[in-house]
Amino acid sequence: MDDVRVRFAPSPTGYLHIGGLRTALYNYLFAKNNNGKFILRIEDTDRTRFVEGAIENLVNSLKWAGIEVDEGVTLDENGKIKQVGEYGPYIQSERLDIYRKYVDELIEKGYAYYCFCTKERLDKVREEQKIKGLVPKYDGFCRNISIEEAKKRIADGEEYVVRLKLPQNVDIKFHDIVRGDIVINTNDLDDQVLLKSDGFPTYHLAVVVDDHLMNITHIVRGEEWLPSAPKHVFLYQAFGWEAPEYVHLPTVLNKDRKKLSKRQGDVSVEDFRASGYLPEGLVNYLALVGWSPEGNEEILSMDELINEFSFERVSKTGGIFDKDKLDWVNSHY
Ligand code: GLU
Repeated sequence: MDDVRVRFAPSPTGYLHIGGLRTALYNYLFAKNNNGKFILRIEDTDRTRFVEGAIENLVNSLKWAGIEVDEGVTLDENGKIKQVGEYGPYIQSERLDIYRKYVDELIEKGYAYYCFCTKERLDKVREEQKIKGLVPKYDGFCRNISIEEAKKRIADGEEYVVRLKLPQNVDIKFHDIVRGDIVINTNDLDDQVLLKSDGFPTYHLAVVVDDHLMNITHIVRGEEWLPSAPKHVFLYQAFGWEAPEYVHLPTVLNKDRKKLSKRQGDVSVEDFRASGYLPEGLVNYLALVGWSPEGNEEILSMDELINEFSFERVSKTGGIFDKDKLDWVNSHY
């Protein structure tokens, strides 16, 4: 196996959710189990959701939990954001020229196109599709505008986005280490926006370009991203790049099998820290939400977790977060 390189790629939208900490932890355990590198990349391309101070918070929460960043975004001794490593910048808003270059490549190769549809038109199309009982999807109105015509319209000041040009009725296949082989037909996917009208990439373009350029070997993330994976695999093929391995983790749920929400109590690492939980206790317990060691022991230090961790023992179904169990584990530290 190539030298393992994994990344945790949060968006700086607030405090680190414990589901996010578990994702970071599984990435970290896998990296350390394989003498690999754990990279922290900040995905801040959605400027409307950016929260001041969130990057510093994320780094501090990981540090408190004992997760050391090998490469990417970290803080200096004065608490200022610092980036380490040769594949930077690791903050996506500082990589706009890179995305622009790759989106141009996709347009040239015929895998993407300029779209000039207004919000009003898109809303109308969506409304009509809904009335007909169809899943709302872009109707391909701008798919056949030539590059020359598009460039003229752009020079005339028209606003545009760039969309992925998916072929019709093609099966996209990939393998997920936890979930096995997955096949999705392009007819069930949309011509995803890749570059927004503000010049920022969408998550889908940025994640593929960065994971490739940063030599990421395994993408380990929550299962809410599974529906996005076929679009990413298609992009890898379009660029002629080899896709990394995929691991989609089961969601952290409450005892009613619903998503953990703020209304039911603590959800951020910051909350647990303020309530007096010990990092060792929280990390030990979170590791067991969706994974179990071979011997089923329940009290494990970070080193033991690293030694025992493997994706083979990650469950396919949601991990249940049980506060009583957390308290019991925490009481051992
Ligand atoms: N930026 C995404 C998030 O906020 C990361 C998804 C991924 O890991 O690909 O969760």
